[in-house]
Amino acid sequence: MDAEIISVGTEIVLGQIVNTNAPFLARQLGTLGITADRQLAIPDRQELMVASIRTAWQRSPLVFVCGGLGPTADDVTLAAVAQALGVKLTVDSDHWRWIQGTFAQRHQPMMPENIQQAKCLTGGEPLANSVGLALGSWYEHDGHRLVVLPGPPREFVPMVTGEVMPRLAKIVGQRVQITSRTLNFFGRSESQLMDEIADVTADLSGVMITSYVQPDAIQVRMTVRNQPRAAANHLLDTAQARIVKEEAPYFFGVGDDCRLAAVVVDQLRDRGWRLTAAESLTGGMFQSTICSVPGASNVFDGGFVTYAARAKEELLGIDHQVIAEHGVVSAQTAAQMAERSRQRLGVQVGLGFTGVAGPDSLEGQPAGTVWVGLAISGQPTTTRLLHLGAYRGRQAVRQWSVQAGLQMLYR
Ligand code: ATP
Ligand code: MG
Repeated sequence: MDAEIISVGTEIVLGQIVNTNAPFLARQLGTLGITADRQLAIPDRQELMVASIRTAWQRSPLVFVCGGLGPTADDVTLAAVAQALGVKLTVDSDHWRWIQGTFAQRHQPMMPENIQQAKCLTGGEPLANSVGLALGSWYEHDGHRLVVLPGPPREFVPMVTGEVMPRLAKIVGQRVQITSRTLNFFGRSESQLMDEIADVTADLSGVMITSYVQPDAIQVRMTVRNQPRAAANHLLDTAQARIVKEEAPYFFGVGDDCRLAAVVVDQLRDRGWRLTAAESLTGGMFQSTICSVPGASNVFDGGFVTYAARAKEELLGIDHQVIAEHGVVSAQTAAQMAERSRQRLGVQVGLGFTGVAGPDSLEGQPAGTVWVGLAISGQPTTTRLLHLGAYRGRQAVRQWSVQAGLQMLYR
């Protein structure tokens, strides 16, 4: 089934807020095999809305109109929908009583306009809103369906998952079943990865392969349609085995929410290793990333932010000689930062980050030049040189450095 999403709001059209509702809804619909292949944003202007809604209603089996259900004069969505469909609005008396009770409870004066939020399309079904005052509407006629939802995401999101999706799931039923699985990779560009797996994916019949770039991963999503769950999972198992075999060194986990930092924390915990870091250009970002993982305390005690050379010498005991001879941005400094941090805290693993975040160069090295050191007790210290390129910008250079550190830890 195809759907259309009409996002209503002058502030969306002007680019003052980012439309997060439409992509959220589109993703949800996708899980039922419904494609929102037309998506429109329009300002809060009734005549424009009426024309757009009418067109969508005539050509599509499923139309969403999102936003503009408030009580103020600029919220004209429901009136526009009613006009476009040629139906009247009626007050839902239960909901109107509930709104009045809510205001009384809060000791807030009620405005006459608040009755707007108790209105519903005649012949339609009201959709409950557990967070806000406005009702949504679900309207069906002649095999066409139109759904009206409020704009604030904290109301919109629970109404989509709680009210809209269960109704649509019943309609779509078992006809379309989507089973998908996401594989996560690092250390490869998206095009490189897709190129390398092209041969194996070419003869995977029944499995659709798509790829996405995430800040900390390249994700490959495998999707199977119209298959019973067990058969679909069998197809996905086969596809996964073949893709992972091809890209084994770069594969780090399964699932949309799989994070490299979390995988690394798990691996360290399993080995009984504890971790620290000394950070220059990343300024604590690596340690903050580790701390963002629930259970980080199993592997992380704390560490060092040593930005200036003086701090590297005083807090870590980096040899003045090393910095003078090789420079702050050098393999030697990165290695010593890793080793000294590890020794100071008496843990098994230490990382050192030193580099040029930019935009200016440092010690004659261009922005984006980064050294990461890794010291593991009982093993020789390793270092990695990154050429991240200034064009990415300062924050990206720092983030990529953190990712490189996580990749070095992954085993
Ligand atoms: P309200 O009673 O709050 O006015 P409403 O249903 O009339 O509810 P809108 O006026 O469309 O909602 O939007 C209210 C606010 O909700 C917007 O200013 C914006 O902050 C947020 N919002 C609305 N639509 C979207 C959207 N599509 N994506 C992200 N945020 C949105
Ligand atoms: Mg509003």
